[in-house]
Amino acid sequence: MLTKTQKYLFRKKINELKNIRGQHTELISLYIPPERRISEVMAKLRDEYSQSSNIKSKQTRKNVLSAIESIMSRLRYFKEPPPNGMVLFVGMVGEPPKLVAEIVEPPLPINIYLYRCDSQFYVEPLENMLEEKNVYGLLLIDRRECTIGFLVGSRIEMGAYLTSRVPGKHKKGGQSQRRFERLTEIAAHEWFEKAGKKASQLFLERKNLKGILVGGPGHTKREFVNGNYLDYRVKEKIIGFYDTGYTDEFGLRELVNSASKDLGELDIVKDRKLMQRFLNEIRKDSGLAIYGEEEVRKALETGAVEVVMISDSLEKYKVIAECKNCGYKTEGTFESIEIECPKCHSNMEINEKKDVVEEFSELASASSSEFEIIGRETEEGEILYKAFGGIAAILRYKL
Ligand code: ZN
Repeated sequence: MLTKTQKYLFRKKINELKNIRGQHTELISLYIPPERRISEVMAKLRDEYSQSSNIKSKQTRKNVLSAIESIMSRLRYFKEPPPNGMVLFVGMVGEPPKLVAEIVEPPLPINIYLYRCDSQFYVEPLENMLEEKNVYGLLLIDRRECTIGFLVGSRIEMGAYLTSRVPGKHKKGGQSQRRFERLTEIAAHEWFEKAGKKASQLFLERKNLKGILVGGPGHTKREFVNGNYLDYRVKEKIIGFYDTGYTDEFGLRELVNSASKDLGELDIVKDRKLMQRFLNEIRKDSGLAIYGEEEVRKALETGAVEVVMISDSLEKYKVIAECKNCGYKTEGTFESIEIECPKCHSNMEINEKKDVVEEFSELASASSSEFEIIGRETEEGEILYKAFGGIAAILRYKL
């Protein structure tokens, strides 16, 4: 089992790698499982090297060959792979081309041995390690809209959004009224069939689906479920019905909030309760709630913190950087790792970088404080990010 912090940092790393694009087929991903011998990997790389010497484009050939060379020189430091194996992501990126070389030691063992050269890094096997075990289906329906989504751990994912052509319920009276009602019922039936088909398909495809929450205003949601428009295996997973005002993407959050009493053990609910406690301390002005990077860091160092809350959208890095052009050095917290030299405006070289989330998680464990990463799916999580700069804490005692 991975901790929330491990998962968070690992996902962030994967997303970074995933967003990198090579100019051509020249980014190398090399997966080495723990039991593979390094000498064997080296032999394979020499083989790839000689094959890559035949690449027609001069620039691509040059880039691929230097990437392989870089991998080989890094592997020389290893007698054997680390306990969970390792993945090397190496390639020339950008204009002018700069070498990106990352060695990832995954939190769980790798079970494939693979060399791939492509225009982007191959991260799927790592993504699969993060597969969430607690997945809930979310279904919102009324006569106009249907939204299908998932609650994955503490994230809400959008699945599909459908709209209907069922006319409004009211029309002028008289002769045509009954005919109009019949047509409306036919249209509603077709709409439910369409929505039921899509929902069944998405819910059946999804692995680890623990249950399904159904929401929407009024009676329509029950009419839909009782009307057998859903596959029986999907229907069996329904946990409950919840009234929501919205049936679009916004309604997904509303549904999770309404259902929270039935989902007591879920991370998203725990996060929400914790944030409510924090906001309560703020309201009471008890002095037990603090926020902001500096203030929370100081409190952690004195051991006064009971629990730290950090937004999962926080982008802050503790960096030591140096300008290769003029020699200017700097150290501090930055919101990006693209740092411009304040003296000569060239790009600074990063000597050391640490995600603030990682730093705070280490400080927290050193002082036996609890540490929570809070998503922005709930209103309270959004408040943490927007109003409190993404870092807050509740203290054991007033400072
Ligand atoms: Zn400079």
